[in-house]
Amino acid sequence: MQKNDEVELVIEDMGTAGEGIGKTGGMTLFVKDALIGDRIRAKIVKLKKSYGYGRLMEILEPSPWRTEAKCSFHRQCGGCQIQALDYEKQLEFKQKKVLSNLQHIGGFLNPPMESVVGMEVPYYYRNKAQFPIGTDKNGRIITGFYAGRTHQIIANRECALGVWVNRKILDIVIGVMEKYNVTAYDEKSGKGLMRHVLIRYGFATKEIMVCLIINGKTLPYADVFVSELCKLEGMTSISINMNQKNTNVILGSHIEVLWGLPYITDYIGDIKYQISPLSFYQVNPVQTEKLYGLALEYADLKGHETVWDLYCGIGTISLFLAGKAKRVFGVEIVPQAIEDARRNAEINHIQNAEFFTGKAEEILPEFYEKERRRGRQAYADVIVVDPPRKGCDKALLDTILLMKPERIVYVSCDSATLARDLKILCNRDYELRRVRPVDQFCHTSHVETVVLLSHKKPDGHINVKVEFGEGEGKVPLDNIAKRVEEYKPKERVTYKMIKEYTEAKYGFKVHTAYIAEVKRDLGLPMYDASNAAEELKHPTAEKVEAIKDALKHFEVI
Ligand code: SAH
Repeated sequence: MQKNDEVELVIEDMGTAGEGIGKTGGMTLFVKDALIGDRIRAKIVKLKKSYGYGRLMEILEPSPWRTEAKCSFHRQCGGCQIQALDYEKQLEFKQKKVLSNLQHIGGFLNPPMESVVGMEVPYYYRNKAQFPIGTDKNGRIITGFYAGRTHQIIANRECALGVWVNRKILDIVIGVMEKYNVTAYDEKSGKGLMRHVLIRYGFATKEIMVCLIINGKTLPYADVFVSELCKLEGMTSISINMNQKNTNVILGSHIEVLWGLPYITDYIGDIKYQISPLSFYQVNPVQTEKLYGLALEYADLKGHETVWDLYCGIGTISLFLAGKAKRVFGVEIVPQAIEDARRNAEINHIQNAEFFTGKAEEILPEFYEKERRRGRQAYADVIVVDPPRKGCDKALLDTILLMKPERIVYVSCDSATLARDLKILCNRDYELRRVRPVDQFCHTSHVETVVLLSHKKPDGHINVKVEFGEGEGKVPLDNIAKRVEEYKPKERVTYKMIKEYTEAKYGFKVHTAYIAEVKRDLGLPMYDASNAAEELKHPTAEKVEAIKDALKHFEVI
């Protein structure tokens, strides 16, 4: 068998990315767009020792699970991978994918899997879309989605996963661009203005957000864009985002509101969320409610619990759980998302949720270490983690193991990294109790999973001894103590921490220069920012007290 040969084969399985897998001449062949049950003719495009990759040339006998896809671009477009597969079979594929990762990567022989939660109408479910703007070979402005693995735009304004307003908005934006000669961005040359159109839609509120991402600082004819877009009922927020870097990253860090509010509002269950363009928000609100419902069920809250929600985004899970817990702490890396989280707590009148900006793998170990120095054990009854695809950082998992929460609820969008992390937790003190996939991303190969872990024994000491059993003289507790010693606090108490503390406790931020002044007055060592904004007035007595309180809280004084 050689490259460019054409072969016939039956597809017997599907890979994690949704590609068909079949065997021919002792070789395993991976074929994109071929579905389980298809008999196909494929052209070999790449050949290794025992496996290769083929291009689907012809479907000789269609799979009994092959259906008419809604979108005619489903093969070229990088958005969907398995749209032509019957939806029930898609769900089966996702269930198996999670199971297989737990078995092969996690080493769980028979994980306690519950059946995947599917969607009744698996179309038009996405509340967010980012459309790239470019030009075709005749120079006409186009928009759509990137083809798989490339940045070639497949022109299509009617995605079967998106909402109806997408098309209207794109027609308006491109219409204005054409009329007033506003240029489309060209990735190769780095020239041209309009890069992307980001659209968000509140399913419960019908509010619309449009954010135009531009390769520049100002948008010409902004008033025309605004007046045309405002003709759409539900328009709530129109903004521009400046991104002048030649990268794959879609959004820059700066947003300027052109019209309306800097956010839209939406509901999940009874909780109201304000969402700004830069914040993460689950893309499938119908399934998200089911997902959070499961997270709440797994957390099994009675009202006395301290809960940590790590990777909390705009506080969605935190606020969903806050009503049933004593208090919730959320941690998130994106500052704008934390601003949203705090505002969301406020608008829902939730007072037992606090939010911290920073990396989960730094904030939690720092908290643990701080408590240890005070002779206390950092405490959590339940820890929820919902990391991005790369999963949890090892330093975070180590700290969770040290904190020994009774339950861990792991929400994951990548079952491979989930399995890797579960292995670490279950090799130590945790037991895998429940696993349930949720189909958040119908027609793609992705799947969300909720997992419940419980601590094997309430008394971690005995448990650890039994678990390790590495012979006499090697008391496992010493290992733990040693690990704790190894946790050097990464950072001293920063100005940011002081600001966040005063904001959380007193409701106001304090200027860096004020903190510097108080520190100087107290004779504390100054690191940086000591000369910041010297022309500022002196802090009020109230602010001085708040800063001193924060310094005491962080044990600086
Ligand atoms: N739980 C939220 C968000 C989940 S998405 C929800 O359901 O809406 C993952 C979030 O983790 C994103 O908001 C991302 O900004 C954040 N994140 C990524 N890396 C992080 C890190 N190292 N520490 C804390 N948050 C992180």
